Amino acid sequence: MRSPLNIKRCIGTLAVLLTLTGCAHPNGSASSPKAVSFESTTITSRPLSVQAQSRRGGPIRIQPTLRPITTPTAEPTATPEPTATPIPTATMVPALPGFGPELAGERIVQTSRYDVYLGINTLAAESVLAILPRIDAGLDAAERSLGTRLQARASLAFYRLARRPARGVRAQAITEERRLELFYAPEEDANGAVRVAVHELAHQLEADRYGADNQRLADTILHEGLATWLAGDEWLAPTGSASWRERGRDLLEQGRLRAIRSDPSGAAANDAYEGWASFVDYLIATYGWAAFDDLYCSGDGRYPGSADYRLVYGQSLDDLVEEWRGWIQEKG
Ligand SMILES: [Zn+2]
Repeated sequence: MRSPLNIKRCIGTLAVLLTLTGCAHPNGSASSPKAVSFESTTITSRPLSVQAQSRRGGPIRIQPTLRPITTPTAEPTATPEPTATPIPTATMVPALPGFGPELAGERIVQTSRYDVYLGINTLAAESVLAILPRIDAGLDAAERSLGTRLQARASLAFYRLARRPARGVRAQAITEERRLELFYAPEEDANGAVRVAVHELAHQLEADRYGADNQRLADTILHEGLATWLAGDEWLAPTGSASWRERGRDLLEQGRLRAIRSDPSGAAANDAYEGWASFVDYLIATYGWAAFDDLYCSGDGRYPGSADYRLVYGQSLDDLVEEWRGWIQEKG
């Protein structure tokens, strides 16, 4: 049985930012958003067992790094909110100073929170510039939903397919270096890159909220599920579902809801990611942020199911999945 988790480490590492996170999209054709799919690859620089042991100690409780915008529900409730919808806010997001990491290619613009790099033989500069307002809006929404802002500037790069780290990879987030890279061919539709960019930025938000070590060991269900959930409307819109709860139900009814521990690679990777996002939506809406933060930080490696669900929720992952599947079917 595991000892209680050490959230102090979760908080203490926020400034270190040493997580390497890969997020790959195996579908080479992403001319439409629906064609983009993801798979997770993780770069782990240290043995997991050492990391895991070093992370365990006293009781944990994480606070949002800047300000919570969603209202946490500390206690489980039998009547959860329909979905973990963020509370709208008109708060201006202050610009982050300095520069993001210097990357290959040309830095074509600085937004308020990240620098944009462009390589050769990829999307045209004007196409990238045209989608930046949507990416920014998606990042705004993700920061509001998570209650955590980017803690320093990042760099978002658009590169040719030949620079992909592996065949079929669409994007990767090397959060240790605050480096987010997307791989697109010149003829592809840049609109399909919006939700991919927001998803990668969301991985950086995860690293900034939970710290490098916790993110490195995060359960893929939560790591990819949260980043997809944070991509929010940009992700959901092409699916035709209005919420993550509805998305889970639609996948179930279409026979596409993947097993919770499924391998996210292949053509059905999007279904796995979206199922995880719906499950994350259920956990947050039902049990609140504090418990979810504990769960995220309880991961023992990137494999699906590595988090200690029983310790945090008093139930096994399988039992929670049964609850979730009932939850998504409750609404017509
Ligand atoms: Zn990802």
